Parts: sequence; structure tokens; C-alpha cells
Amino acid sequence: MTNDTILEAARGLQEPMTNFLRDIVAIPSLSGQEEAVVRRIAAEMEAVGFDEVKIDGLGNVLGRVGDGPRVVAFDAHIDTVDVTDRDQWECDPFTGKLENGRIYGRGAVDQKAGMAGMIYAAKLMKDLDLLDGLQVWMVGSVMEEDCDGLCWHYILKEGVLKPEVVVSTEPTGLTLTRGQRGRMEIRVTARGVSCHGSAPERGDNAATKLAPACVAIDALNERLATDDFLGKGTCCVTWFGTEGPSLCAVPDKAELHIDRRLTFGETKDQAVKEVEDALSAVDIPADVWLLTYEVPSWTGLVYPMEKYYPTWVMPEDHPAVQAGIAAHLAALASEPPV
Ligand SMILES: [Zn+2]
Repeated sequence: MTNDTILEAARGLQEPMTNFLRDIVAIPSLSGQEEAVVRRIAAEMEAVGFDEVKIDGLGNVLGRVGDGPRVVAFDAHIDTVDVTDRDQWECDPFTGKLENGRIYGRGAVDQKAGMAGMIYAAKLMKDLDLLDGLQVWMVGSVMEEDCDGLCWHYILKEGVLKPEVVVSTEPTGLTLTRGQRGRMEIRVTARGVSCHGSAPERGDNAATKLAPACVAIDALNERLATDDFLGKGTCCVTWFGTEGPSLCAVPDKAELHIDRRLTFGETKDQAVKEVEDALSAVDIPADVWLLTYEVPSWTGLVYPMEKYYPTWVMPEDHPAVQAGIAAHLAALASEPPV
């Protein structure tokens, strides 16, 4: 089997693959509402000749080609974020518009194109008999935009699949990517005492108590860890809210939300403690805690998970990274940027 034969066969699949991608872009699939697109993907897997297609309890769709002992998985999340302001779109985000060799629409890049490529890659592997000793699973995962790690957390914890390696088809501008900063969502809660808004001195205003925390948390950015490969850890206050009996009353609760990106070596506990220390240094009494995600999937399953998504790095000499470089070189006659 020469690489030219593979390329030739791949070109032969361009049209059905393009049509399929346009189809799934045209099916809205917000996080937690992916059923229609999952069923469409399962149907395509069946149609191109997968050996097995299943939908797990969380609603991920998994298709297999080959039945060898070594298990490799590819992943594409098939949910998308919402379209808030349609006027900013030059085309309907849900038609799968094709123009001059490009497909436009919500999820066309992130990450439905990955799914389309994976399904037709599996067909090629099967048609050209390239699956010696392998079973390859193509996974369309759900809820990723809302809770990055939940889909694979479920797959691994529930034993749906035990692959040796998973290749993510997240868009990377055609580079081979071997690591990413982690992420966590931290909530800070301050409490006060409510009273009538006309006499604020009688209460203890949770909003004014917590407000300086925004500045203290922002200042943390100057001293978070740095890694040569992944860069700096960061934190950002992304939301601030208050609660009280009415808008004419002193609020007795104030909260803020932190989007924290973790570089290599930073841990969950350390990140929480840094915020606690930053607040106590400026005398702001508040609880600092990690949020839990517990939204039902389209199947109705609630599978609670801490909103903590660890940093990951694969060494450049890892066999999977090296295999990726070799494959790029063989197929496209150049080494990819890693
Ligand atoms: Zn994505």
C-alpha cells in the first residue's frame, strides 16, 4: 500500500464527506441537546460500514472499525456553543453553506469537521485493509463546551472504552499539539447582613465587602507560575453577582466567578489556596470553592463532576506524538509544527 494509493482513495471520498459535514453543521447541537446530531452521526457510521456503533449512557456516540487487540480512539466533541447575535453572521449558522471550498456555520471548525474527517478516515482504514492488529474507535462526544472533561471522564470511569491513546481532533491550525493548560472554575462567596437600603449603616454590605477581591484576584496574575512549554497560569474574574431581599436592600450575599488556567505543575488545591491567601491578605472574609457541574445530558443522565480539568503534556518523544509526526510526513510529505 503506497501513500499515493491512500491519498487517491481519500480524494475519492471528498464529496460524501463534504455533504455529511454540511448535514451535521445544519443540525443545531448545543451542549446537552445533541440527540439529533448524535443520531445522524450514528447513521453515517452505519452507512459507511463501521463494525459496531453504540451510544453510551451520557449520550456519546462511539463507532468501531477493526477488531484487533490494540485500541486507539479519536475524539471530536459534537456539541457547539450558542449563536447569540445572528445579525453578526453573514450567513445562516445552521445551513452548512458551501462556498469556494469552505463550509460556513456554527461548529464547522470546532469540531464537526473533525467528526466528518474521522468517519471517512475509518472508512478508508477499513476499505484499504489498514487495521492489522487494531481496533479504532471514532467518538463523537457531548457537553464538551460546557464541561470540558465530562465526556471522557464518563467513558473512562464507566469502562465504556479503554484506549491506549486518544487523538483529539480539536482544531489547532493544522499543527500537532501535545499539551494544553488546565482549567478550573472557582467561586468566591462573601456574606453580610441585610437591612433596608435607606440606612445601610445598620447592615453589612456583602457587595462592597467582596468588590475589592476583584482587584486582589487580578493582581494574582503577576505571581502565578510559568512553564517554558505551556506559558503562564492565569486567573480572571468573569462574573460578579449579589443577592438580597430586594434592590432596595443591602445585599447579604455576594459572589464572584474565576476562570483559572493552570500551567504545568499547578494543582487544584494550590490554586484555591492562592485565592484564599490573596483575600485574607486584604482582610476579605469569604469562602473559596470549586464548582461542580451537574447538568443533565440529552439522555437525562446527571453525572456530577468538579469543574477541574487538569493540565496535560505529552513528551515530544512519546510514541503517539512520534507516530503523528511520521503519519504527517508520509501523507503530506512534510513534518507538522509540533
Ligand atoms: Zn472544541
